[in-house]
Amino acid sequence: MSETGRSTGIHIPGWAERVADSLGEGPHVVVSGISVSGNIHAGNLREVLVAEAVANALRQRGEEVRFIFHADTIDPLRKIAPGIPRSYEEYIGHSLSHIPDPEGCHVSYAEHFLVPFEEALSEMEMDIEVLRSHELYERGLYTGVTGEALENTDELRGIIQQVTNRKMPENWSPYLPRAESGKLTGNLVLSHVPEQTSVVFADEDGREDSADYSRGEGKLGWRVELAARWKALGVTFEPFGKDHTSRGGSTDTADRMAREVFDYPVPGRYEYEWIGLKGRGDMSSSRGIVLLPNDLLRIMPPGAVRRIILGRDPARRFDIDLEGGFPRFMDEYRAEVGEPYVPFTHLVTVAQTVGEDTEAAAQMLRRGGYEEAVTDGLADDLYYARNWAAEWAPESMRLGLLDPSEAEEAAAALDDEQRAYLREVSEKLGPEMDGEAIQDVLYSTAIERGLKPKRAFAAVYSVLLGKTSGPKAGPFIAGLTLDQVSQRFSV
Ligand SMILES: [Zn+2]
Repeated sequence: MSETGRSTGIHIPGWAERVADSLGEGPHVVVSGISVSGNIHAGNLREVLVAEAVANALRQRGEEVRFIFHADTIDPLRKIAPGIPRSYEEYIGHSLSHIPDPEGCHVSYAEHFLVPFEEALSEMEMDIEVLRSHELYERGLYTGVTGEALENTDELRGIIQQVTNRKMPENWSPYLPRAESGKLTGNLVLSHVPEQTSVVFADEDGREDSADYSRGEGKLGWRVELAARWKALGVTFEPFGKDHTSRGGSTDTADRMAREVFDYPVPGRYEYEWIGLKGRGDMSSSRGIVLLPNDLLRIMPPGAVRRIILGRDPARRFDIDLEGGFPRFMDEYRAEVGEPYVPFTHLVTVAQTVGEDTEAAAQMLRRGGYEEAVTDGLADDLYYARNWAAEWAPESMRLGLLDPSEAEEAAAALDDEQRAYLREVSEKLGPEMDGEAIQDVLYSTAIERGLKPKRAFAAVYSVLLGKTSGPKAGPFIAGLTLDQVSQRFSV
């Protein structure tokens, strides 16, 4: 079995091993399902990563595992997400897979939001099968369970009423046929014709029509579909966010439907908590608080994305800090996975000083005493550090070397003592000096001249960065060429 015992090289957290231990013998089908009605954000990624961790734990113990991402592409559009034109109100009730892309770049509304997420999963080298629900309906995967649901309409209706404590209409149906208008909502199912795998229904205007449920001409209602999907795909494990597992929520109904109607055992479950973005609140597509997986992959490697999204325990709520706290997270992550030691803040300084020049970065790291950090992965490290500096770093960590004319202006604002200090330092610097040696020169020259170190260093930062403070000056200057320094210090 090729699926068995595959090593993914990914760390398997303890909680995932415990979940896997609680699941029986395989083969296993691990599924996570996400709506594609708007941006699929980093909070949604938590669900997929929980499922992945459990799938990996099962694979590690030698189980055969099918790991599925079920994209709810056939679901009806319910409301207009932020950024979608108001004119899309005409598509409310239509399948997301049957609505045009609001930006015209993909074949449908569903694909517009699904494809970037799929690309992020692929960039993370995730061993996952992405299934589109409209295709599953069209291929007939749901035909058997839809027939069963229609035959057991009264039982399903009774379960929903009991669990939700809400009276369902007399003519409620577990199936939503698609009318000629394209709408899945507002139609009334009149009868089931099992031998033709179809239903007869009346549309909003009272016109009679029929829909063949073996060909994707409609879908099961959401609560019923969840239980039906477990059976149709043979699901053995699925994680859920707390919105689904609350009392009277969708898992309560689906559990009873699975046992009492579909005669299928309730899959193993893990309840995860939300993640938020520090200072901005819980992630939510409908409220426009959206961090995309790609935003994360711009500032850290896939392993770090897994680590920051899952946290120590995905059953706990957690705020991701991509601002001031991020360098510390990266230092801990790099230590955990055995990357050579160099503080992330130093990489940020280097990346901002040398731009994309990897050779110059290597020199700067060597002279700063971080020889071991010069690896094949250096270009990636710089890419992450540079993007973080530009997009998330606090102002105090953003650096840009002044060009010579800007440096001249900055020097003009200093006093004579400070300028004389810079000139003397410039004469003392030599090409062989490392960061510590330069730091010594900066300090001892100030003391010798009777200049307070604080004013001396302020002069250094002024002509280099246009600020009064910055990263440790010696290692920073060591990363520049002597020409660059003397141009700005000989004032
Ligand atoms: Zn598009």
